[in-house]
Amino acid sequence: MSKKIKETKVAYFCMEYGLDENLPIYAGGLGILAGDVLKAAKENEYPLIGIGLLWRQGYTNQIIGDDDRPVDTYPRNDHIYDLAEDTGKEITVSIKNKEVICKIYKLDCYDNSELYLLDTNHPDNDGEAKWITGQLYGWFSEERIAQEIVLGIGGIKAMRELDLDIDVYHFNEGHAALAATELIKEKRAKGATFEEALEDVREEVVFTTHTPVPQGNEEHSLKTLEYMGAFNGLTIDQMVRIGGAPFNMTVAGLRLSSVANGVAQLHGETANKMWEDVDDRAPIKAITNGVHLNTWVDQRMIDAYKDKGDLWSTHQEIKSELIDFVADKTGTELDEDKLLIGFARRAAPYKRADLIFSDLEKIRPYFEKGEIQIIFSGKAHPLDDTGKELVEILVEMTKEFPDSVVFLEDYDMEIGRMLTRGVDVWLNNPRRPKEASGTSGMKAAMNGILNVSILDGWWPEACEHGVNGWQFGDAFESEDVEEQDKHDLEALYEVLLEEVLPTYYDKKDKWKKMMRESIASTLERFNAKVMIENYYQMMYSKKVRKNADRKY
Ligand SMILES: *Cc1c(COP(=O)(O)O)cnc(C)c1O
Repeated sequence: MSKKIKETKVAYFCMEYGLDENLPIYAGGLGILAGDVLKAAKENEYPLIGIGLLWRQGYTNQIIGDDDRPVDTYPRNDHIYDLAEDTGKEITVSIKNKEVICKIYKLDCYDNSELYLLDTNHPDNDGEAKWITGQLYGWFSEERIAQEIVLGIGGIKAMRELDLDIDVYHFNEGHAALAATELIKEKRAKGATFEEALEDVREEVVFTTHTPVPQGNEEHSLKTLEYMGAFNGLTIDQMVRIGGAPFNMTVAGLRLSSVANGVAQLHGETANKMWEDVDDRAPIKAITNGVHLNTWVDQRMIDAYKDKGDLWSTHQEIKSELIDFVADKTGTELDEDKLLIGFARRAAPYKRADLIFSDLEKIRPYFEKGEIQIIFSGKAHPLDDTGKELVEILVEMTKEFPDSVVFLEDYDMEIGRMLTRGVDVWLNNPRRPKEASGTSGMKAAMNGILNVSILDGWWPEACEHGVNGWQFGDAFESEDVEEQDKHDLEALYEVLLEEVLPTYYDKKDKWKKMMRESIASTLERFNAKVMIENYYQMMYSKKVRKNADRKY
């Protein structure tokens, strides 16, 4: 990469950052990705900084109540104030015609590039304003818009207050789109027309879209946006031109940027189809996510792999640590000589966490004999009742099969790390093509854990069936959800019972070889270092932004 490109100064905007389990300002994959980007930037000396919010209550700490239902709790995480450094600077944003003060904190204690966190918990703010940076993805539309005003508009003002010189603004997901209203305002103050300002802003903005599930792409009514003060000097016609009516944050991201990307090759295609009717938008490229090795891959495994040593005994050692961890948390003693599957993801219906139990009579004997053991973890969004019902089903299954099915409550980075190192198989069965990328599978693969997955997200790029893991479902898709689920269930049982189990129990040498292949085929390729290089080459480069083909 040319020195010039590598010197491009980037401000990365994201609602959440998963840097460490002790810094609970993340909810899931979006935040984990953002945390890994900041670590990769630091490690590889890229001038990229992060902008986010200091979530005093974080995302839900979701535990299982006495009635086996998920219960949301929100402790105050005031220890964040000890981790972050007060820059002494503050800015204000206008929300509902009131000035809200945001303090600016700086955080760089996790080998990450500088992360600036805005906090409305200020003694001079009123009670309502103090809690704008309270709950990540909590509450409703008005609160969310207030949070997006702080992240977007406040984020740009913070850059100016800190005197940071920025070449590119990267909106990671649509939450930060309102930042563009502030950039437009700045340019108009210097005499540009709206059209000129919009053109100039686009050249400085790049955008990443994440979710291929339509409901996941946030929309707000223009009325509410106006009432909240989110127009920030723009007219309603200008707002509609950017985000449509209702105002869609993803559409806005696509119209405000020069280039955009999806987070895996397949997701790039899906996103292009999904947004093909949006005119005057950025082209959507594909940059596959990566993971930060020091955070997610066990050094003992890397050493054993590099020394051409015995992966199996190293794996068994790490597996037994996981088994102890599970026993401490739940009292269940899993068997280290039996196959152990891991499944951890947000409890969203399309991820089908309960698929494996769909034909209970068929699969029952395997769980009863303990030939298959499985550990689940995952939170449902606090307002998602269907997701919570899914968790209840999983908890029910732990009662049905108390020695071989486990549910770990309050999924977080520690659980994620333990599981993606210590199980034997990483199971992933979303309804294709709804999984954008799925970095947990990469973490697992790099630790020698074999993926058993639908060909969705990143997996089509890496999967060599029977060599470094297994696919099932043959990329089948159907409009008919029942048909798709039935097809995928049969495929799951077939691969599990006819390939995975026999290999595990009867062909250990083949299994060990596959573990080595799993690491060999992923360790370099899905390293966050490659991802950030791609962002610089394909998105941040000035030439790319200037010459972007926006004829859509
Ligand atoms: C890795 C990780 C994720 C993202 O993984 P997906 O495969 O996208 O589900 C989410 N949450 C935690 C805690 C993680 O460690």
